[in-house]
Amino acid sequence: MAPREVTNGDHQRVVIVGSGPAGYTAAVYAARAELAPVVVAGLQFGGQLMLTTDVENYPGFAEGITGPEMMEVFQRQAERFGTEVRMEDATEIDLSKRPFTVVTDSKTLTADALILATGASAKWIGIDSETRLQNRGVSACATCDGALYRGKPMAVVGGGDTAMEEALFLTRFATKVSVIHRRDALRASKIMQERALAHEKIDFVWNSVVEEVLGEDFVTGVRVRDVKSDETTELPIEALFVAIGHKPNTDLLEGQLALDPTGYVKIEPGSTRTSVAGVFCAGDASDPTYRQAVTAAGTGCMAAIDAERWLAEQCIE
Ligand code: NAP
Repeated sequence: MAPREVTNGDHQRVVIVGSGPAGYTAAVYAARAELAPVVVAGLQFGGQLMLTTDVENYPGFAEGITGPEMMEVFQRQAERFGTEVRMEDATEIDLSKRPFTVVTDSKTLTADALILATGASAKWIGIDSETRLQNRGVSACATCDGALYRGKPMAVVGGGDTAMEEALFLTRFATKVSVIHRRDALRASKIMQERALAHEKIDFVWNSVVEEVLGEDFVTGVRVRDVKSDETTELPIEALFVAIGHKPNTDLLEGQLALDPTGYVKIEPGSTRTSVAGVFCAGDASDPTYRQAVTAAGTGCMAAIDAERWLAEQCIE
């Protein structure tokens, strides 16, 4: 199929905010429905998969693929059918009247229908020393920063799949990886637990929380507190990777549509419809449960179909 001509006008039938698997899948479907969507991709385009190493669980990639490579394929596929991708952030979203408004750094777009696919971002522990030493040994992305600390001892905070994935990845560079977890049981899936527990370079600091990240200009260690005995110990490390879950990227939407108490966009079960007619949500921004690339892509497809049907009902051609 020949690529469609890209529309550069400010008014669009469909604007998609976000460029992870949900946003790009919504774009593929909306573009093939001849809605000529615009994707406001964000400066950190590609979403969380840009921070992932190997994606081994996305059907169709039997040998695995890296996250960034996968997102490039998604983008190419969306563009092939006439999606316009803008590599800039949405700075304001106005859902109070139709057409909806999305302000970016360079222009104000209006849209008959809006698909929100803004995803989620890494959570931080919330201590001052963590903020002070960010990018000086403290990171939330092993893929991005792990190699910087080659040959050094490192630690990962968290007990979920992300923490295990980060710890396993870091074994390529670290002399030793300590996983600091606040309980004595992991939340991660069995297979990831087994891999991490069996790895000779990984050890576990159970029932413990990071009380302080140590170091003046760069991380030199962490002080951890055993939550059972209240004892503190210092662990000499030179990089700390925080992997304790995610927060939905919905700050721009606050007060404009229904969010749950933790900030996830509420959707009507079995659909991607939000509390505002004509606004649809896909991917991690409305999914505190599954949070997988493949489920995000699935709901991205649903959002495009929901938007297309809604536009047809409104007779917006
Ligand atoms: P998660 O499953 O929510 O795990 C977060 C971990 O951080 C938990 O172990 C939690 O402890 C701990 N934690 C939370 N807040 C903390 C705090 N303030 N201080 C210390 N520890 C804290 O998040 P995730 O690991 O990012 O995974 C999210 C989803 O993505 C999951 O569904 C996961 O399966 C999926 N995922 C899959 C893969 C894969 O299959 N390759 C890779 C990455 C992620 P508690 O256990 O005590 O609550």
